Amino acid sequence: MGDSARQVDQRCAHNNSLKRPVVEQLQLFFHQHNGLVALFKTVLDHMPSDNHKIVIKADKTPTGQHIRRFNAPTIDEVAIVIVGENVENRDIVLHRRNNQLQRVSETHRSNDALQYPILFWQGEDGLNQAKLRSEEYIHLRDAINADGNAHNVGRTTILPATYVRSPRHMHEYAQDAMSYICHYGTPDLLITFTCNPQWTEIRQELFIGQSPIDRHDITARVFKRKLKSLMDFIVKQHVFGETRCWMYSVEWQKRGLPHAHILIWLVETIKSNEIDDVISAEIPDNDEDPLLYEIVTKNMIHGPCGILNPSSRCMVDGKCLKRFPRQLVSETISGNDGYPLYRRRSTDNNGRSTTVKVNQQDIEVDNRWVFPFSPLLSKTYKAHINVEFCHSVKSIKYICKYVNKGSDMAVFGVAAENYNDEITHFQMGRYVSSNEAMWLVFSFPIYERHPTVVRLAVHLENGQRVYFTTENVLQRVDRPPSTTLTSFFEMCQNDDFGRTLLYSEMPKYYT
Ligand SMILES: [Zn+2]
Repeated sequence: MGDSARQVDQRCAHNNSLKRPVVEQLQLFFHQHNGLVALFKTVLDHMPSDNHKIVIKADKTPTGQHIRRFNAPTIDEVAIVIVGENVENRDIVLHRRNNQLQRVSETHRSNDALQYPILFWQGEDGLNQAKLRSEEYIHLRDAINADGNAHNVGRTTILPATYVRSPRHMHEYAQDAMSYICHYGTPDLLITFTCNPQWTEIRQELFIGQSPIDRHDITARVFKRKLKSLMDFIVKQHVFGETRCWMYSVEWQKRGLPHAHILIWLVETIKSNEIDDVISAEIPDNDEDPLLYEIVTKNMIHGPCGILNPSSRCMVDGKCLKRFPRQLVSETISGNDGYPLYRRRSTDNNGRSTTVKVNQQDIEVDNRWVFPFSPLLSKTYKAHINVEFCHSVKSIKYICKYVNKGSDMAVFGVAAENYNDEITHFQMGRYVSSNEAMWLVFSFPIYERHPTVVRLAVHLENGQRVYFTTENVLQRVDRPPSTTLTSFFEMCQNDDFGRTLLYSEMPKYYT
């Protein structure tokens, strides 16, 4: 009995709003009636010890991968690493008494009972998703026509869940960016907006003794609201002029807190002689605008790195990944490749400098170390908001890299706690930080854009995918399911205007 009381304690400790008598009754109930509980109790003795450490190998980036996906975490945080890409099935692995491993796949009949114990309280078989299968229409039709038997065709299918950040999703995002570029040219502004843990909206919600890093629920919610507010400010208040389209994606890069990459296409392009009105890359005048001075010196100074601080994280092979220090120039120059050189006056030419602390030492930095920013956005949102003018063909590559990068990854190995030898076996996996986990639990979007991009299907004749069960297979075979492509062909036969359009022009007129 003492043991079961401890189990109740542990269960209640997860959530202090739980009613102990209810947990007690449920636990007793499952122990008495659930067949799977009895089964698991018998294998508990064989569980290995929990004392392991996970070692992340940050200097190992697989070739061809985006380097920052494999960064080492820059802060202490609770995170999970999942082997492989997250699109793989989440199997349950059982360790049998004879030391064999048994895999319980997502389509196993016991899977539902393990996921939803209250619905399947006896541990009985679940809904058995294995019934639903998918196949290309033509193969299904041929199988039925040959012998009327659909048993051997089709793959067991898990309905495409919200596989957020799966490589396929990220690929679609990049395609959205490309279709904007095809229609409207390169974006006008590339904005990076980073969560600031010092925001009063976060601070005022903390309990005494807590720091923002203890409350990812709050930082995630506040950042979500701020991002919405920033997008409204730009899109509805037209702070840079009327917007034609926009998109953003949120990422974490193992820094504990989220940041968003935002692309803005304007109706009226910013001309090169107007850049200074919108973007500054200089330290503001403390007497003239102390608030802006404080925000910029706190949030918009890079490093310093280079000779001033060679051990800075941004330094790779003796060079700063973010191309600092930048060149001092007395006037903004719009470069031939579309990247402007923002005005950064030297201290001899009325440029200002400020002091930053590096390794307990005061270092004087000038305008070479300033991230380009919008004074208006910086003052309104009091955070790191890097605003870049980006009319360049090169920016397309840059944008796709941002949009297409996918989730954080880590190369890692598992070692026993007191084991100091080098680990030889490393695996690659997805890295999900606490903040990202909160974001996903809240179902906040990691990607949004406007206007909507309609994805058009492309497939061979009768090559579209069809989903079926044993019960409805004949119905499905009767008529190939329509897709955007088959509907387009129908339209071309029956509609005089539709016939004049290209496939890619259809959504503009028929949605
Ligand atoms: Zn640097």
